[in-house]
Amino acid sequence: AIQISAVRKQFGKQEILKSIDLEIRDKEFTVLLGPSGCGKSTLLRIIAGLEYESSGSIRIGDREITSLAPRDRRIAMVFQNYAVFPHMTVAENIAFGLRVRKDSEAHIQRKVKETAELMHIEDRLDHYSGQLSGGQRQRVAVARALAMEPEVLLMDEPLSNLDALLRLEMRAELKTILSASDTTTIYVTHDQVEAMSLADRIAVMKGGEIEQYAPPSEIYHYPATEFVGSFIGNPP
Ligand code: ATP
Ligand code: MG
Repeated sequence: AIQISAVRKQFGKQEILKSIDLEIRDKEFTVLLGPSGCGKSTLLRIIAGLEYESSGSIRIGDREITSLAPRDRRIAMVFQNYAVFPHMTVAENIAFGLRVRKDSEAHIQRKVKETAELMHIEDRLDHYSGQLSGGQRQRVAVARALAMEPEVLLMDEPLSNLDALLRLEMRAELKTILSASDTTTIYVTHDQVEAMSLADRIAVMKGGEIEQYAPPSEIYHYPATEFVGSFIGNPP
């Protein structure tokens, strides 16, 4: 499990996260759901080790996360603005982390092919990523993360730049791919429909705090606060 204990984050005088406690269960699909500015990306970036908490602790299994070098964390992240390298081809982008890790060439080739097919970009492998549409780039970013076979996959609004139809399609695919895998996924979105359809468990956030942490049906039928009810679309 990932154990988040009393994590606070301040930027200057502003308290962005106010003592977050959360236990993310192994192999589950957890969604962090909440309005813009509530601190979702900040929490995810702290879990990824891209940002430090002001106080509190995060443990993965029995290890304190700050004691682990990034390459030993077995965490992969897909960013809100996809962050693929425009001057590299799709294949090179997907292979990037595997090359850094010094995986064998045969393994790299196999993972590139497999994840590109999964994300339906196998016909784009030789294209420069800078020449792709936003949606295609986002699929490259997801393929690159999946290719690493991470223990923990962190995704920050990975479908936000896709048109409605593609979004639905990719949502269904991600669900199929990730529920069949052993990956622990933490997925950030402000879209309640997306959260309800993907999550094993949803953490609803507001103003740097967790309002409720429960499976989708429980959140829907028994919202803990008025805010949760109206945000999830089942107001009192
Ligand atoms: P969105 O849905 O719009 O992506 P979010 O829930 O991901 O929102 P965060 O990006 O975590 O929100 O930001 C939470 C708050 O922290 C915002 O008010 C933001 O302005 C502030 N913030 C984030 N990063 C920094 C930073 N590096 N320096 C100062 N303030 C920051
Ligand atoms: Mg964000």
